[in-house]
Amino acid sequence: MSLENYIRDIQDFPKEGILFKDITPLLNNAEATQECLQILVKSLNGHQINKVVGAESRGFLFGMLLAQELNAGFVPVRKPKKLPYETVSVTYDLEYGTDTLEIHKDAIQKGDKVLIHDDVLATGGTAKAVCELVEKLGGEIVQLNFLMELKFLNGREKLNGYDIFAVLTY
Ligand code: IMP
Repeated sequence: MSLENYIRDIQDFPKEGILFKDITPLLNNAEATQECLQILVKSLNGHQINKVVGAESRGFLFGMLLAQELNAGFVPVRKPKKLPYETVSVTYDLEYGTDTLEIHKDAIQKGDKVLIHDDVLATGGTAKAVCELVEKLGGEIVQLNFLMELKFLNGREKLNGYDIFAVLTY
C-alpha cells in the first residue's frame, strides 16, 4: 500500500472549513512508519546532522526517530511555559492574532548542523518561527523536512533559501 493510504482526511477539524491530515494511521503501522523514516533520511544525501529540532507536538514523533537514526540529539520546540529551563522565544503572526514558540537556550551550540522536522508544512509560519529560534542560538539549518506539504498554502514562500523536503505533497 502506498504511504498516501496511511493519511486520513478529517473534514472540519479542528474548525469548520479545515481539512485535517491525520497521521495516526501511519504511526499505527510499523512498516509504513519505517518507510517514511527512511525516505526522510535518504533526502539528506548523507549530510551530517548534530541536532534534530521537532515542533510541538506532532514534530516530536518522527523528529525523535530521525535523531536516533542520524545519531543526532533531539531538541523540542514548544508552546510557552512548557519547557522547564531557560528559554529563547519567538512570536509570529497568525491569520488572527499571534503565537509564540520556545526553545531551551542551551539546546543548540553555535555551528551545530540542524535538521528541522514537523509533520505538516501549511502556511510556513511555524517552520519560519522554528528557523528563527535555531538561528538565534547560532545553529546552521541544513534542511527542513515534513511528512506532508500542503502546496496550495505556499509555505515555501516564507522559507526562501532553505532546503525543504516533504515525503507527500497535496
Ligand atoms: P503552518 O504554520 O501554517 O505551516 O502550520 C503548520 C503547523 O500546523 C504544523 O505544526 C502542523 O502540525 C499543523 N497543521 C496544519 N495543518 C495540519 C493538518 O492538516 N494536519 C496536521 N497538522 C496540521
